Amino acid sequence: TRLKNGLKKTTDGLVGRIDALVLGKKEINADTLEELEEILITSDIGVATTVELIRALEQRLSRQELKDGQALKSALKEELLSRLLACHQSFRPEGATPFVVLVVGVNGVGKTTTIGKLAARYAAEGKRVLLAAGDTFRAAAAEQLVVWGERAGVEVIRHQEGADPSAVAFDACKAAVARKTDLLIIDTAGRLHTKVNLMEEMKKIRRVIEREIPGAPHETLLVLDAATGQNALSQARLFKEAAGVSGLALTKLDGTAKGGIIVAISRECALPVRFIGIGESVDDLRDFDPQEFVNALFQ
Ligand code: GDP
Repeated sequence: TRLKNGLKKTTDGLVGRIDALVLGKKEINADTLEELEEILITSDIGVATTVELIRALEQRLSRQELKDGQALKSALKEELLSRLLACHQSFRPEGATPFVVLVVGVNGVGKTTTIGKLAARYAAEGKRVLLAAGDTFRAAAAEQLVVWGERAGVEVIRHQEGADPSAVAFDACKAAVARKTDLLIIDTAGRLHTKVNLMEEMKKIRRVIEREIPGAPHETLLVLDAATGQNALSQARLFKEAAGVSGLALTKLDGTAKGGIIVAISRECALPVRFIGIGESVDDLRDFDPQEFVNALFQ
């Protein structure tokens, strides 16, 4: 399947190395787990999560549940799944009209592409969608959003380069209410932020949105590039604190063997991964489904 292909590099890097580790092993012991620990850490599952996983496997080993390589693999799959399920919640843009999504993240992570894919998907489902080009610092960002909008038949609210992002948000909220839009997606500037700057910018833009549409934004979606591994984890920590993030989109999983980062991030940040990106085309943005994900990873 497409998901399986998209995760191929991570499957090769993680599961391929586990296979190599356990191949022909007659017995799983503490040494095997030590080597497994190394594999998990280099797959960017994160030190804290790895330590926790290994501890759980040690307990299973002492209960004599890990007889062979296959048993070790299925136990690991179960442990990964339960951690991914613990904070999982899928994205349902329902219960408010307009449902407002504020999208945040640093430049280059795939923010514009993700917004474009979301717009295309929900427009195709028959929802009335409106986009707001809140990244007024890069003219190219707004241009790119307009291209996605045209392709999806979705209008984009934009101002001149250098305009106040809050003014764009204000106009977009007004327009969304007037047009009875179902889904309003607001882009934001992705300059590398210091925490203080980020908080100030977010406070201002949120204040405008909240004033125009009580209860909004209904989702603050942080977009992260999976290929950046531990960097993505630190971005998640920064934005969670400073920007009130409520969900994550993890892009470019197709280009990296570091897909384990999804476990580290959802576990260590206690934020639900809403979407995963496994390619550049419109239908390469998927709802994240933990069961489907581990199945694709472990075949
Ligand atoms: P932004 O600066 O955060 O708005 O990033 P863009 O949306 O412009 O994306 C940067 C690059 O990453 C573009 O070339 C996208 O096509 C690419 N990209 C985004 N998401 C994915 C993905 O899931 N997989 C792959 N392979 N490329 C992606």
